[in-house]
Amino acid sequence: MTSFDPELSPRRAARAEAERRATAAVAVVPPTEPSPTRRLRREDTASPRRGPVRWASRPRRVRRRLAALALGLTVVVAGALAVGIATAGGASTPLAAPEAAARVGPPPVPAEGLPVPVLAEAPAPKSPCDDPSFTSVLATGDDTATIAAIGGAAAFRAAVASGIAPCVSLSDPNREWVVVNKKRPFDPADYRPGDIVMPDDVRALKESGLRRTAADALTALVRGAADAGAGEIGYLSAFRSYENQQSTYADRVSVSGVEEADRESARAGFSEHQSGLAVDIVPCDGSCGTLDDVAASSQGAWVRDHAWEYGYITRYDVGRIDVTGYEPEAWHLRYIGPELAKAYHDGGFTTLEEFFGLPAAPTY
Ligand SMILES: [Zn+2]
Repeated sequence: MTSFDPELSPRRAARAEAERRATAAVAVVPPTEPSPTRRLRREDTASPRRGPVRWASRPRRVRRRLAALALGLTVVVAGALAVGIATAGGASTPLAAPEAAARVGPPPVPAEGLPVPVLAEAPAPKSPCDDPSFTSVLATGDDTATIAAIGGAAAFRAAVASGIAPCVSLSDPNREWVVVNKKRPFDPADYRPGDIVMPDDVRALKESGLRRTAADALTALVRGAADAGAGEIGYLSAFRSYENQQSTYADRVSVSGVEEADRESARAGFSEHQSGLAVDIVPCDGSCGTLDDVAASSQGAWVRDHAWEYGYITRYDVGRIDVTGYEPEAWHLRYIGPELAKAYHDGGFTTLEEFFGLPAAPTY
């Protein structure tokens, strides 16, 4: 069969051929059965009511419309069948009528004679910040209750990392989930937490405390390591003020130069130690070793596996200087609370930046 007509102009002939191809393309859907579209087309062409004058133009247009309608019907029926099968097949949550309609989508609307596929849009994820029962808990400042209110640490992390929870600030230094790095200084730069205490029953080599919750967790961690036979854990330094960090960083620069100092020490206003949630541990056996002794010690091995159980993570992991901007520090533990630390551990994360979906911060 050909639609070539010697009486048509080349332009009209080309158009007619294009139309024939488009119609043929529609007519082969669905491919498994004798097409109702084809049957309709035959019946339509054979209609005795079609006059000879209109025969050349009208049937093709009609055929195209009928084809479009048939395809639309096929989509709707197939969608309805799919929903029926899902419901009858024992799906645990049968779709409610409006939801089912949204999944199937409206039937395609023929435009220029051809069906236009209509994709049903997924509903926008609901922000916990629009939920007063969440924001009221967030406003209390209770980190544990806030994480519980959103459905647990994994849900909290997912909401924050996906950007649907802008009311949760990762810059608030009073929250246990604060992220401080070379791109995220404290605001104000000389922030100072109000509840710094010395942890009970832990050997401190300097008079340097932690925020109350982190201090209690360190006491539990040190006891856990001792009970497990991993040895005594002491610490060299925990909270450091803005002024203290200025001199710490300056000392490092004077020894190593700026470039190396920046890989090993934070500038003032950019150090996690200023949050009161970070601690540099040392292994002790009678006397205590240095920071560099941690990685190869039994205490260091135990901390790598178990610190998360007490709400701490190894903040500057091996091989992640691309994100953190710091050489690995087996001794530097950061408190983020037991719920988030478990999600961090279970998710296999190695940087807090990736955990919360933040950009890498290798440099200032
Ligand atoms: Zn440190």
